[in-house]
Amino acid sequence: MSTPFTATILGAPRIGPNRELKRAVERYWAGRIDRAALEEIAAGLRRDTLAELSRAGLDSVPVNTFSYYDQVLDTAVLLGALPARVSGVADDLDRYFAAARGTADIPPLEMTKWFDTNYHYIVPEIGPDTAFTLNPAKVLNELKEAQTQGISGRPVIVGPITFLALSKAVDGAAAPIERLGELLPLYVELLGRLADAGAQWVQIDEPVLVTDILDSGAELAEQVYTTLAGAAKRPAILVATYFGELGAALPALARTQIEGIAVDFVAGGDQPVSGLADKLLVAGIVDGRNIWRTNLETALARLGALVGSAKTVAVSTSCSTLHVPYSLEPESDLDDALRSWLAFGAEKVREVATLATAMRDGRDAVAAAFEASSAAVASRAQDPRLHNDSVRARLKEVLTGGISRGPAAERRKAQDARLSLPSLPTTTIGSFPQTVEIRKARAALVAGEIDEAQYTDQMKAEVETVIRLQEDLGLDVLVHGEPERNDMVQYFAEQLDGFFATKNGWVQSYGSRCVRPPVLFGDVTRRQPMTVEWARYAQTLTDKPVKGMLTGPVTILAWSFVRDDQPLADSANQVALAIRDETVDLQDAGIVIVQVDEPALRELLPLRNADKAAYLQWAVDAFRLSTSGVSDETQIHTHLCYSEFGEVIGAIADLDADVTSIEAARSHMEVLDDLNEIGFAGSVGPGVYDIHSPRVPSVEEMATSLRHALDAVPAERLWVNPDCGLKTRKTDEVTESLRNLVRAARLVRAG
Ligand code: GLN
Ligand code: ZN
Repeated sequence: MSTPFTATILGAPRIGPNRELKRAVERYWAGRIDRAALEEIAAGLRRDTLAELSRAGLDSVPVNTFSYYDQVLDTAVLLGALPARVSGVADDLDRYFAAARGTADIPPLEMTKWFDTNYHYIVPEIGPDTAFTLNPAKVLNELKEAQTQGISGRPVIVGPITFLALSKAVDGAAAPIERLGELLPLYVELLGRLADAGAQWVQIDEPVLVTDILDSGAELAEQVYTTLAGAAKRPAILVATYFGELGAALPALARTQIEGIAVDFVAGGDQPVSGLADKLLVAGIVDGRNIWRTNLETALARLGALVGSAKTVAVSTSCSTLHVPYSLEPESDLDDALRSWLAFGAEKVREVATLATAMRDGRDAVAAAFEASSAAVASRAQDPRLHNDSVRARLKEVLTGGISRGPAAERRKAQDARLSLPSLPTTTIGSFPQTVEIRKARAALVAGEIDEAQYTDQMKAEVETVIRLQEDLGLDVLVHGEPERNDMVQYFAEQLDGFFATKNGWVQSYGSRCVRPPVLFGDVTRRQPMTVEWARYAQTLTDKPVKGMLTGPVTILAWSFVRDDQPLADSANQVALAIRDETVDLQDAGIVIVQVDEPALRELLPLRNADKAAYLQWAVDAFRLSTSGVSDETQIHTHLCYSEFGEVIGAIADLDADVTSIEAARSHMEVLDDLNEIGFAGSVGPGVYDIHSPRVPSVEEMATSLRHALDAVPAERLWVNPDCGLKTRKTDEVTESLRNLVRAARLVRAG
């Protein structure tokens, strides 16, 4: 029925090699270009991507992996599942963007992380009134575009199980997954339309099958794909899974009449495959989400071992290359060795093609590529930067000494005596608005228009402004405002040996937002103090305590590309040691409060329940390693910002911070009850000001939140602060909001 293929990837980046789509979309939002102009840019990017993939030697090319915002939102459109509140927006593209970003009167859909990646998808809402209907225009159009280019594209769509498992029930509706039966006829209809349009294959993504999100994923997979495979008219079906081991879902899918299964042999390891005698196995052997060059010899050996377990074996990336930068080509600053260890999106496509050629024609047909790969592997293994004995020895020594601080109650006593803060102390999370002037100064520094000294002077002036503002407002614990930080991870990565920053390594985070994760490649050492001068300077400007601000080890790893040659826990400890040294230096410089942010604590939580405890153990230990070097008199704060703390709530207590500030303005303080339930005894600052919104909260509403909080937490353990850092807000908003926040605290203090 179908011709098997030999080389593919599961999806490609779409932001454009130089973030062309980001710029075009943002110009469209700002009303500076019209829809036709935006569509032309988008079509050009799709054309280039297709041409490049097919030129590189893929014999099956994914289509419909383009998106103006997000592929899950695209699927909601495909299935007619946009919420009623956007239906009044006449233009379909504007309706789509309204769902993604909201408008003045329409709140947007929520956004959350796509499995354990840093990509965020839009969470579809399924209510009692959601009536599914098929809108296949986008996927049919993108298929046709490929055909016009002479490429037989393989449409990619999010599968029904994954779509519903990731959706959210609203307005009292039952769990979305219960509506699977209603969706299947739409998928059957879609398969027919794709077949009519000439698609040979369709790729249906079901990454949810590698998680424990559903209790009965394997059974559902068997039912759904038995039904879809039974469609009267359809292309060959490839069910794509990625991000982990398939487990019971693999034999379940194998029992259905689908033609192919994509399996992730990178994140999922050497998982057993069997029962595929009549199927195509798409072997995800080239890592789609990390940036290391593939060891072609090992990969070919693994592929060889898979031949025989399926009718045919194709080579693929483990997942969409959406998660890595476009190409290594612009990275001219890297030394040759470093560069030779890496493969970004374009290089990964070539690796796939090389491996497929080697499978077909033998290794010698592509001997040069194999030799280059082996040379890179050898160079990386021998590079002295990967192994720093003195760091490793010090780490061992510190760990032997233990990572506990004194008993929490004694610490509290010592800190209270030293700080003599009012009850319900007020503070912020660290950053103040990154103003246009700050961003201009940073750009001018990069462009060489001002020198380091001029830049520093300007940032110092900014620190002074922020300190004065906080004093005027009457905040109790001040911050320097973080003007000098481009990003809370990159700032540290640039100052640590073992990391490098890319020039153009942009990756989509959500919508038009892109990030440039640093690369952790070697053993980590701190060259010198990283933040001390800023904190010390800020402290000279005020008698109130200034908090030192650091990013925690888990968050630094979560927002970087990490080395794959040692356990993540080992890398975390090395970063933690550097942060620990920084806390001690801050203390020695007279800083009495240090905050170590871990907003990403929940992000790295493994997808399988069985792996979660081990992760939380090392994550908590790394945090404690980074914060246990200071004396009991030094107050350690941490900050977490994820609304669903559920599975990590116990770990929050285990961090053993003196004060924990936590996002709560949107979740209405529920987190406090959760903390109480587990006997949390530390101080806590539930955010009373939602910084994700430009709205200025009133004194009364923040006072109400605080009184609410006091039902759950005694006054001596309650802090008053915003939800998160203020860097994305405008100075006027922040000033008014913080003024109200301080007033609210005073009001509640007065009883
Ligand atoms: N200290 C950081 C800030 O205030 C924390 C940011 C975060 O939680 N993401 O910006
Ligand atoms: Zn935050």
